[in-house]
Amino acid sequence: MNIILFGPPGSGKGTQAEQLCKKLNLLHIATGDIFRENLNQKTDLGNLAKTYMDRGELVPGDVTNAMVRDRLDRPDTAGGFVLDGFPRTLPQAEALTVIMKDLERQIYGVLYINVSDEEVVNRLSGRIICRECQTPFHKIYNPFESCPFEKCNGEHLYQRDDDKPETVRARLETYHTQTAPVLDYYQQANLMIEISGAGTVKDVSQQALQAVKSLA
Ligand code: AMP
Repeated sequence: MNIILFGPPGSGKGTQAEQLCKKLNLLHIATGDIFRENLNQKTDLGNLAKTYMDRGELVPGDVTNAMVRDRLDRPDTAGGFVLDGFPRTLPQAEALTVIMKDLERQIYGVLYINVSDEEVVNRLSGRIICRECQTPFHKIYNPFESCPFEKCNGEHLYQRDDDKPETVRARLETYHTQTAPVLDYYQQANLMIEISGAGTVKDVSQQALQAVKSLA
């Protein structure tokens, strides 16, 4: 089963993707995480991506599409994957259709997690994450100084540069102008399922799991 998790920044895609992957034994592929890994390792791709990420803009499509094609072509995706953060534009959605066809794979469905702009700003301005495992926490709702997981060795939590308020506003603008049209693309293909992302992580996880099972 290959599915796409779709929604605005801060809708909980990363958290829900992790949960779904654990329950359904799928591979989590997040384009934002791949860019951040490259950034930490100071690769050319990471340095290029940073200039866009810091402004809340999208990394150019050709670079991103090539990166996704390369990732999806690896053998560890054979058991199914959850794609998180891609596609984020109509051309990326079209490119993904071509990539899947070339790789003789299929997207089963697109799970859209709907969250209001107000809630997005509230969540992201308090979000802190672990550099090691990328798990998100929140300054008020889920406060930790350092990552509680043993494998991360007390890694200090940090606020992503692009979670600062002015960049969050730019990311929301990018989402509404460039990413939201992708919904129509998948609605027309009859692949979209919508859930509300407004509840607790547990509530949303239950809805997400039910929705994904209905695709099978
Ligand atoms: P995320 O972790 O999904 O919020 O992504 C963080 C940042 O990475 C975004 O604001 C973009 O700058 C970049 N990014 C992630 N996915 C994509 C994509 N599909 N296309 C272009 N840029 C992306």
